[in-house]
Amino acid sequence: MHTYTPQKDYLKNKTMLVTGAGDGIGKQAALHFAKYGATVILLGKTVAKLESVYDEIINNGGNEPAIVPLDLKGATAKHYRDMANTISDQFGCLDGLLHNASMLGHLGPFTQISEQDWQDVFQVNVTSQFLMTQALLPILKKAPHCSVIFTTSGVGLKGRAYWGPYSISKFATQGMMQILADEYENSNIRFNCINPGATKTAMRAKAFPAENVENLKTPEEIMPLYLYLMDDKTSSENGQTFEAQPK
Ligand code: NDP
Repeated sequence: MHTYTPQKDYLKNKTMLVTGAGDGIGKQAALHFAKYGATVILLGKTVAKLESVYDEIINNGGNEPAIVPLDLKGATAKHYRDMANTISDQFGCLDGLLHNASMLGHLGPFTQISEQDWQDVFQVNVTSQFLMTQALLPILKKAPHCSVIFTTSGVGLKGRAYWGPYSISKFATQGMMQILADEYENSNIRFNCINPGATKTAMRAKAFPAENVENLKTPEEIMPLYLYLMDDKTSSENGQTFEAQPK
């Protein structure tokens, strides 16, 4: 998958929503989808970061993006319904959705997981994806071919000591993806997960503050898999978990 190079403009006429589009992997995904012709909806918490991605897309000659400032921690079902209605009015349908935003929370022993941290991590990493996907399904169904990508982690495939709520939230994300993939089998929508693998971002630095970052892949280097899963040519891929950095 490292070398997947799609055709120029293969995402032309497609509208794609990326969560956590202001930084790290989500930022690169938004820039790449725009580079290949998509109109990108940039959702994230920090408006200044989203504006800077907006400017970069415009400067690169991409379609004008839309910005959705939203803190997933406080967002309710109504926020997502309103967002879906706005996207429907503006674009008619949604062809791609990348659930990328998430929070790490505190890493530490199971006995020291606070109820607040558990709730925050689950709200941002799981509940928001549930509510957003449910609200967006009517406009995902309207797209000729639609790809929904969730983001998991190595600790969402095998539990690891001290990774508590984050790890468990990634198992839940995999479960949500598999349930949706099964329910929508043989439809226009497919659902898959990407495990980015160790990637040089702010979240990685928070989790591994002492590591030597020289050998880490950059978000840009792992983009081929994201481009692959948004391509209509790969629409038979459904219910799978893909490694952006296969061993
Ligand atoms: P970053 O922390 O670099 O970026 C996360 C993005 O999500 C930021 O744009 C951030 O916005 C946004 N975000 C976080 N919390 C919220 C919130 N409450 N509401 C709205 N937006 C929010 O992380 P990565 O790029 O490293 O991670 C991207 C995905 O990849 C995550 O799901 C992560 O779990 C997964 N992953 C990453 C790995 C890695 O090595 N980097 C490895 C395995 C999985 P803002 O900047 O405004 O805070």
